[in-house]
Amino acid sequence: MTEISVPTPEILAEPHVTCWDEAADVVIVGYGGAGASAAIEARRMGVDVLIVERASGGGGATGIAGGHVYLGGGTPVQIACGFEDTAEEMYKYLEALTPDPHPAKLRLYCEESVVHFHWLEAAGVPFERSYYPGKAAMQPGSECLIWSGNEKVWPFRDKAKPAPRGHKVALASGDAGSLLMQRLIATATGIGVRTLCDGQVVALIAEDDGTIIGVRVRRFDEMLNIRARAGVVLAAGGYIMNDKMFENELAWMPRDLIKHGTPYDDGSGIMLGVSAGGQAMRLDRAFLTSPFYPPENMIKGILVNAQGKRFVAEDCYHGRTAGFTVEQPGGIAYLILDSETFGYPPYEFFEQRLVDGWETVAEMEAGLGLPAGSLVATMERYNSDMRMGEDREFHKYGDWLKPLDAPPYAAFDLSLNRAKYAGFSLGGLKTSENAEVLDAADAPIPGLYAAGACAWNIAQDARGYSSGTCIGEATFFGRRAGRFAAGSVNVS
Ligand SMILES: Cc1cc2nc3c(=O)[nH]c(=O)nc-3n(C[C@H](O)[C@H](O)[C@H](O)COP(=O)(O)OP(=O)(O)OC[C@H]3O[C@@H](n4cnc5c(N)ncnc54)[C@H](O)[C@@H]3O)c2cc1C
Repeated sequence: MTEISVPTPEILAEPHVTCWDEAADVVIVGYGGAGASAAIEARRMGVDVLIVERASGGGGATGIAGGHVYLGGGTPVQIACGFEDTAEEMYKYLEALTPDPHPAKLRLYCEESVVHFHWLEAAGVPFERSYYPGKAAMQPGSECLIWSGNEKVWPFRDKAKPAPRGHKVALASGDAGSLLMQRLIATATGIGVRTLCDGQVVALIAEDDGTIIGVRVRRFDEMLNIRARAGVVLAAGGYIMNDKMFENELAWMPRDLIKHGTPYDDGSGIMLGVSAGGQAMRLDRAFLTSPFYPPENMIKGILVNAQGKRFVAEDCYHGRTAGFTVEQPGGIAYLILDSETFGYPPYEFFEQRLVDGWETVAEMEAGLGLPAGSLVATMERYNSDMRMGEDREFHKYGDWLKPLDAPPYAAFDLSLNRAKYAGFSLGGLKTSENAEVLDAADAPIPGLYAAGACAWNIAQDARGYSSGTCIGEATFFGRRAGRFAAGSVNVS
């Protein structure tokens, strides 16, 4: 549990709430991926659902996201593209990469992944039966399946049979999450989910025994009390845009971070949960990245730190290489290439500067200001390994093995605070596998549920991140939150 460094709102006791302006069985705070999924599931159980959204319409960070959803265990796309996968292999993979795995949640997420795929499609979210074989942060077109994590990276390839599980929503753009949200919103609207936009939930309302029975909403210059007869679902996103939390909880992140999110990613869902006695988990955790590929030839280069030493397998998912870069002295990292692997990193806005080109490794070592002999020794060892066809130090996958011995050489600067990094928060409220918010004794707070970026589930840090786990868990546990909220209390 993490102490939250910002003030949390006062919880309002029911006796002081003298009138209700509105009521629904399930009230959902936030209309992103988690909120929409919760709403659809709850509404399909026959209850009255109201989403309160602070913006003028639904979407949230999900609506600007890349649109990868991490799914496996033999989805129709995996089968159509010729990949074998099982829930067990998916579980073993995610368990190996998650710092603080919750076995029951992970089991559910993996065992019900195929069902979740069908649920998304039935809700109108399209996925092509196609595969993108390249190594890239995001497929350029509408192709669906991609290796979006560390499945083929050592030691994970030995722990679980690798399979690609990144399923991109079928839109040929970098924000395919927009189509996912359009479709979920259309489905929710079509089945009668009600929405109150421009309404910011500022407090929870509780009975004397702590049961959550409503929310207080600021809407322009009005304050509204909204009764939730069966439960409140917090689906209000992350906290990367909260300056105080960025300063206090995420002090390890580069200060010039490209913050991925919407202006309303200010942690208010987490604060509301904490105000009711919920536990905030690992608010110091975040996703971080500065992808240096494609072109994928760059993966055949090596990453070295200020001591001229390698520190990570270069074929890792780009969030994992960033996670290791943070731990290097001074956050310094260079990507070293030779003339046969040279290319330019794909995204100019990450400002990964080409330092220079050199005829010899010794000149490059001096040019980068690395300790005498350090880079020369690293390259000698690496090239000798490559000639034997094996990376004995970091076990880079066979696809990426090549001696770096074709001058001239070049280096790109991937150091923190020199190159740009992007990221978003990953800590959140402690919840059960049924998305109930848990108090300090790990007991469910009656009437309170949470999912998505304001909860602590599958995506837990940059090193273990696989693209698609955020939208995957937001929609998956959002559905569970909606279902358990709708079913938890007798609906009048
Ligand atoms: C650029 C970008 C690319 C990404 N790409 C991917 C990807 O490809 N795959 C992946 O898995 N993840 C990706 N992510 C992360 C992922 O999008 C988020 O973690 C996930 O979508 C969060 O979903 P959510 O429903 O919890 O939050 P959101 O979608 O952000 O929804 C939260 C909603 O709550 C509203 N809200 C906030 N506070 C209140 C309040 N007090 N009262 C009422 N409403 C409130 C917000 O306005 C917002 O609409 C990406 C993120 C970004 C920003």
